[in-house]
Amino acid sequence: MHALAELIRDVPDFPRSGVMFRDVSPLLASAEGFARCIEALAAPWRDSGVQVVGGVEARGFIFGAALALHLGAGFVPLRKPGKLPPPVQAVDYQLEYGKDRLELRRDVLAPARRVLLVDDVLATGGTLCAAAELVAGAGATLLGAAVVIELDALGGRSRWAERGPLHSLLRY
Ligand code: 5GP
Repeated sequence: MHALAELIRDVPDFPRSGVMFRDVSPLLASAEGFARCIEALAAPWRDSGVQVVGGVEARGFIFGAALALHLGAGFVPLRKPGKLPPPVQAVDYQLEYGKDRLELRRDVLAPARRVLLVDDVLATGGTLCAAAELVAGAGATLLGAAVVIELDALGGRSRWAERGPLHSLLRY
């Protein structure tokens, strides 16, 4: 049985020089690894009354949809600009280099729905904090966040701060 960490591939200098990219493709391609990953992501949230999993484009869709089924919850995609039909609400956020934007269908999260956010990697935390802002803007209740990998040096956990419990499976 592989440890989950053995199913993460380190790719130096991607997407640009000096960056070590943590590639989750081998984990996804392993039936056993993927199943154990979803099991482990779900464990802390089993009794939390999660009603909706919000997954961040694009790898957050893969983990998020599987996790939603596992928890008996629905799934809502948080998307890059221009992908969702209106009405959408949007949040701009800062990347390590440059800016990006996340969008959520305005009518898809009923107020007070209990939402768990999911992504593959927490780096600077900009993406997950933008997702949290969209959930709050929709009037839903943010329970917390689950990520497969947390990159400690980039400070995402302190940026996420007191938005709710944040659980990661692997830390680098
Ligand atoms: P942040 O906004 O926290 O700086 O970056 C997190 C976002 O960038 C996530 O949506 C994640 O998919 C992507 N990301 C950043 N670094 C990596 C990495 O090393 N590996 C993978 N798979 N995704 C990354």
